[in-house]
Amino acid sequence: MSSRALAALSIFLLAACSSLVVNQNAQQAEPFPPPKNEPPIITPGKTDSDPPSDAIVLFDGKDLSKWRQAYANAEAKWRVADGYVEVVPRTGDIATKEQFGDCQLHVEWATPSVVKGEGQERGNSGVFLMERYEVQVLDSYDNKTYYHGQAGAIYKQYAPLVNASRKPGEWQSYDIVFKAPKFDEQGKVTERARITVFHNGVLIQNNVEIYGNTWHDRPALYIAHGPKASLKLQDHGDPVRYRNIWIRPL
Ligand code: MG
Repeated sequence: MSSRALAALSIFLLAACSSLVVNQNAQQAEPFPPPKNEPPIITPGKTDSDPPSDAIVLFDGKDLSKWRQAYANAEAKWRVADGYVEVVPRTGDIATKEQFGDCQLHVEWATPSVVKGEGQERGNSGVFLMERYEVQVLDSYDNKTYYHGQAGAIYKQYAPLVNASRKPGEWQSYDIVFKAPKFDEQGKVTERARITVFHNGVLIQNNVEIYGNTWHDRPALYIAHGPKASLKLQDHGDPVRYRNIWIRPL
């Protein structure tokens, strides 16, 4: 091939390549089909902790009418006083009467101001999504325990990214985004649950994949369940307090 022909070929190839790039870019620049539905208009809360207008308020400080005992269809026995509800040790976990799947959840909690016990025995409770997947509640202020068992851990699976704990007795918050797991007809998990958690406004779980039920004495394992289940709060024998609990099904 003459040098002139070679030059012509190079120019041709260059042009072909650049038109390919342009075409690819053009393809990527195609607009997505525009959404047909306008996002619903809602009224946000007065502060970011207050329930927006489309939230279901599960506990507003007054009564436990939205709750039951977790393992019986009977009235929840925790103590309501001054805008909060407190675990009455050994009366058992409590669960919502209504069931939820994918959701945004806001929960405020406080561990006892009188510090007692060490490790897992200090201000232990828990927020269980779908009755199975625990975000640990614990007094983790100056209290050592295994990392995937401290406040904000997905129990025995993920430690929180940071320890954003306030002092015992102070109110703290969890803002949780939860995606329910999916199962096939044989009961095999096809999509694991996912969870994002903010503790006192700080991201501590970043869209992690839950490996199954968060037992304390067994490896995590999925056991198939329906698309919705109750939200459960744990009685671990400590008088932990809760207030301002609301949820937005997604
Ligand atoms: Mg717990």
